[in-house]
Amino acid sequence: MAWLANYHTHSHWCDGEGEIAEVVAAGLAAGLTAIGISSHAPVPFPAGYALPLDHLRAYRDEVLRVRELYAGRIDVILGLELDALPELRRFNEEQALALGFDYTVGSVHFQQLDDAGEPWPLDLSDARFAALVRERYAGNVRALVEEHYERIAELADYPGVAIVGHIDRGVKLWNAGGRYFSEDTPWYRAAVERALRALAATGRIVELSTGGWRRGLPDPFPSPWIVRRCRDLGVRMTLNSDSHHPSQLVHEYPRALALLRETCHGEIARFDPARGDWALAPLPTA
Ligand SMILES: [Zn+2]
Ligand SMILES: [Zn+2]
Repeated sequence: MAWLANYHTHSHWCDGEGEIAEVVAAGLAAGLTAIGISSHAPVPFPAGYALPLDHLRAYRDEVLRVRELYAGRIDVILGLELDALPELRRFNEEQALALGFDYTVGSVHFQQLDDAGEPWPLDLSDARFAALVRERYAGNVRALVEEHYERIAELADYPGVAIVGHIDRGVKLWNAGGRYFSEDTPWYRAAVERALRALAATGRIVELSTGGWRRGLPDPFPSPWIVRRCRDLGVRMTLNSDSHHPSQLVHEYPRALALLRETCHGEIARFDPARGDWALAPLPTA
């Protein structure tokens, strides 16, 4: 049987819905051969979306319990989605990674600090993004975007990060119709290119997330031209849905697989539980 996986999934342990066992059961029913559980890792500031630090050990135990429950039927991989901000390197290493996880998805959901001194969310609302551009970048969206891709590039050597999550989501979510910038603009292409080259150099995996389609955007994360550029530069990719409910587990998978085929990704990254590491495997045909 061909393999098919999703390494980016949420449950009620963070800002998603459903038990981890329900997420895994949905994966099995959808024909997945592996599923990575990747709750939002704890953060040292008030945040309703993340696992509370004092739940982290219980979360880990629960994933391992469900792994045993489903042994021989579907591989359950123990992960986290890490807020991979430069300021959180030490916190992430000491408080989260020290417990032991198979992998993490490193994501950039924040940029700069708000007036309360807390990380400024890129994805909370249209108005919050507009305020960020206005108040921290004096209306210069190019400066924001270039800084965003610098943060993405830094994930090339961020501790514990195997997969780089939704690399263009932070700057694309509120840019429908090219409202802030065109993706064809040379400076945008150059910013993405610098990040991809940095990630290629250390073998980081970039996810193709169907979450963009779920949010009603015309494209997944990242845009198809970036998926193609990953292929050109030898950046390994994997296919995820960033699901927040068991019903979203394989949302738009056939469309994403078609895009990977169109862009000549003959192989994508797969976690090998026996080796505890990532390797390339043929692109699933399902
Ligand atoms: Zn995310
Ligand atoms: Zn996520």
